[in-house]
Amino acid sequence: MSVSKYVGRFAPSPTGPLHFGSIITALGSFLDAHSQKGIWLLRIDDIDTARVRTGACDAIMRALEALGLHWDGDVVFQGQRLAAYQTALAELRSRNMLYACVCPRRILKGKPYPGTCRDLTAPPRQRHSYRIKTHHESISLHDRLQGQLSLSLQKEWGDFIVHRADGLIAYHLAVVIDDSWQGVNHIVRGMDLFHSTTCQVYLQKIFGVDTPSYCHLPVAVDHSGKKISKQNHAKDALLHEKPVSILIKALTFLGQQPVTGLQQASVNEVLDWAKQNWDLSKVPKRQEIPVSL
Ligand code: GLU
Repeated sequence: MSVSKYVGRFAPSPTGPLHFGSIITALGSFLDAHSQKGIWLLRIDDIDTARVRTGACDAIMRALEALGLHWDGDVVFQGQRLAAYQTALAELRSRNMLYACVCPRRILKGKPYPGTCRDLTAPPRQRHSYRIKTHHESISLHDRLQGQLSLSLQKEWGDFIVHRADGLIAYHLAVVIDDSWQGVNHIVRGMDLFHSTTCQVYLQKIFGVDTPSYCHLPVAVDHSGKKISKQNHAKDALLHEKPVSILIKALTFLGQQPVTGLQQASVNEVLDWAKQNWDLSKVPKRQEIPVSL
């Protein structure tokens, strides 16, 4: 039996500098890949052009380099993959799996889409998105850290958007097409994406591509429970702190118990220690962990 080589990735959206929350994902995915002698790719998820910030992509890459998190191969930019997403959409359309939807997202108030536009007879003239038809059957996945997840797409999300009303390709579609094209077979990322992974598994089944192995790490939140993210203007982690101490904080967050003495070590020494000692079973099996930054 041939065992395929571990291919992992880090896929930040360039909406701001690298903050502590994304460093945890970057470090966790890097260590998991390296501890299994795998490769670790960098993909810039710049598909949501309205949210992309000038300079953020360079800042992220510089920060990764300063932290010693060197990626393998060329960086892939989603902005250069539009033709592949259009081909995928065309396939879904030809299989009668899409329909135009004029419902503004805000009216859903976070509830699953009830399928209102499924039976529109003529294509709408106003701005519209495209949704993919889902069904009641459960979608299941096994997460290496969080365990089993099984839910009905219909009950949880309803038919979800694959092509947005503003003309942009939706995140789930782009991610599934790219992960498969890049041969990614291990995904380590934040717990905030855990439940919606079911939408990605659904798309993988439709396109007949392999489902990668998933591992969702706890996310860092502030003391009011808000995720530390670029949206809430999390600060550039490297602005006021040395790379070694950030790595040690991130390792501690991930339950890895870095040995004393590492504070005085170099970035490469810290990472060598971390690669040799990476133990997923020590990562707290929690959705979120409060941190003070
Ligand atoms: N680009 C997404 C983000 O920055 C993550 C994509 C993924 O890991 O699937 O939140």
